[in-house]
Formats: sequence, C-alpha cells, structure tokens
Amino acid sequence: MMSTKRDYYEVLGVKKSASLDEIKKAYRDLALRYHPDRVPHEQKKEAEEQFKEISEAYAVLSDAKKRGLYDQYGHAGIDQKYAYEDIFKGADFGSVFEGMGDFGLGGGIFEDIFSDLGFDIFGSRQRTSGRGRRGRDLQISVDITLEEAAQGIEKTITIPGYETCSTCSGSGAKPGTKQLTCPQCRGSGRMVISSGFFQMAQTCSRCRGEGTVIQTPCPDCKGQGKTKVTRKLKVKIPAGVDTGSQLRMRGEGELGLAGRGDLYVIIEVRPHRVFERHHNDILVQINIGLAKAILGGEVEVATLDGKVKMKIPAGTQSDSIFRLKGKGLPDLHSRQFGDELVKISVNIPRNLTIQQRQLIEEYARLSGEETNSKSSFSDKIKKAFS
Ligand SMILES: [Zn+2]
Ligand SMILES: [Zn+2]
Repeated sequence: MMSTKRDYYEVLGVKKSASLDEIKKAYRDLALRYHPDRVPHEQKKEAEEQFKEISEAYAVLSDAKKRGLYDQYGHAGIDQKYAYEDIFKGADFGSVFEGMGDFGLGGGIFEDIFSDLGFDIFGSRQRTSGRGRRGRDLQISVDITLEEAAQGIEKTITIPGYETCSTCSGSGAKPGTKQLTCPQCRGSGRMVISSGFFQMAQTCSRCRGEGTVIQTPCPDCKGQGKTKVTRKLKVKIPAGVDTGSQLRMRGEGELGLAGRGDLYVIIEVRPHRVFERHHNDILVQINIGLAKAILGGEVEVATLDGKVKMKIPAGTQSDSIFRLKGKGLPDLHSRQFGDELVKISVNIPRNLTIQQRQLIEEYARLSGEETNSKSSFSDKIKKAFS
C-alpha cells in the first residue's frame, strides 16, 4: 500500500542533498501554489490532495530524525499517521484554526504562508473580539507659556473625532428598519474556511465581524453609525508641567463600540524670551555696570511673578550666579519650588569721556597696572592743543 506514495524529495522537487532552507523554500512555494483557496473551484479536490502530499513530505524532510529514517528505510521508516500530525504540534494560533487543536511549526513557515495568502493570523484573532472594542486613544499637543506652566492653567482644546450618530443611535440602520443577521456568517461574525486537511476561521467579509448587516442605511451617517464632530474639552494643566509632560484623560479618546479610548494631552512649553528653564529652576541674565560690580549695589530682576530688587555685593565678578530661593517653578509632584538663578554679566564701558578715562588711568597708576592707553591719551591731548 505504500508503493503508491511518491518519493518525498520528488514531491518537493528538491535533491536528496537539499539543505533545510532549500526544503523550506520549496515547501513554501508549493504550498502557496496548491493552497486550495488559490485554485479554481474545479481543481480544488486535486489541489487538496497535492497540498496534503507536499505537507507530509515537508513534515518528514524538515525533521532531521525523520529524514534520516526516510533516507534509510523509505516510506516504511515513517509512521504515516504520525508524520503530519507532528508537524502541527506546539504553537498556538488560537481561534484561527478551528477543530484541529493546537497547530503550528513554532511560528515560521506557516505564518509566512498564511500571511502570503492574505490571512492576517494575529489580526483576525483580535478581530474576533473586535465587537466589544474600545475607541482608539488620541493624542493632542497643547502649547503653553512658561508663566502658564508655572501657575497651571485650564485650557479648552478642540478634539476632532467621531460621535455616535444620533439619528440611528449608532446602529447605522435607518430608524424604523431592522438590522438583519448576516446571511454570510449567520451572525457569528466569522467564516470557517476549509483548506484541505484543516480549517481556519476568518472574519466575515460581509459584516466585518459584526454578525449583522443593515437593510436600509441611515441617511445621516450613511450606515457608518457615527458622524464626524469636533469636541471641546476643558483640560486642567497642573503647575509645574514641562515640555513632554503627558496628561492622560481617561475615556476622552475616540468613540468605539465599547466606549471611548483615552486622550493623551502632550504639553509643549514655549521658549521664554527672558528665562531659560532648567527643570524647575529658571535662569536669567542681568547686565550690571563696572562701578556696581566693584562697589556693590542693587538691581531689579524679573521673576515669574513680577520684578524684585536684588543686592549686588561689592566685588561681584562677571558670570557670578546668585540664587533667588523659591522663585522657580513648582515641582509637578512635590509642590516644592525651584529657584531663579541670576547670572551677572559686567559691562565693560567702550566709550569713555575724557574725564572717565582720566579716572581709569589714575586707577591703573594707583594699582600699578600697565596699560597702553597713556600714550594714545596724551597723544590726543597733544593733538587737541596743538
Ligand atoms: Zn446614523
Ligand atoms: Zn457576517
């Protein structure tokens, strides 16, 4: 009875010395060619037989141990029943395959073949529970000023999206008409497709998995069950947010059959023309005159809540940084405030009056500083009086 069986290598069209990769490739190509869903109806029976044959050949030749037995003893070396049951053990494609228990080749080749055939294996598994799916999450970005980030603010944002059609309450059917049980899947939302020696389930193409079809579509939403609307939503932005902060608003996303998804509000804090933000601290640069740097004094400094006076001690160096405690931004979580850092820049005067220059030269003389301005200054004096 084994004599009618074709040689496995011949079935797959590979040499006896073929590598595992060559065997896989050959199987894949043949499986695609003879897949019962891909051939005209009148050839289905034949294709099924062929598909079985190549699958069996592959089951043996792709397994080193079985291949060894086959090479040694031929078909007699292989327990036929075992041969292609074993091929499907291990992986779990869930509801995609029906009535055949667990299937699979550890991912890999079957997945490839099915996706080439247009079966979205993992997608259809999701779709089977798609009936009760929530709407998509939405993301919207909101930009605010640094002052707004410091104080917190309530913003009204506009969200484009879809709402349940009020005319048909989301059914998509014209009011007064009925939804019919889908004639193609008889309400199950899935189609079981027989593919040779196994079967698989696919989302029903007629009702897209819903199980019902509409007799007369709703005129307002054209049967979609939803209409495009923009929603306005008040968002409380807490004090201390920074660029990239996300606020999750539960149940404010897109509307699905089982409710709304979430809305993520992404904060963007615009750069400030005066303050540079460093986490919760802000940095500001202040220019002071030479005399104030040397003798000390007071300056006016902008803060997030108005101007304040700040003392400059005598002998302040350029690039010194003073800290105004608690004048920064509040921490988003701890409510403690950051500081304002005031960086001092000393202005070196460029255009001196004669008198100012004389004083600086006098200063240089007293402190024993060599400068090169004396000669040019006396030159100028000479020129002025000559
Ligand atoms: Zn409608
Ligand atoms: Zn259907």
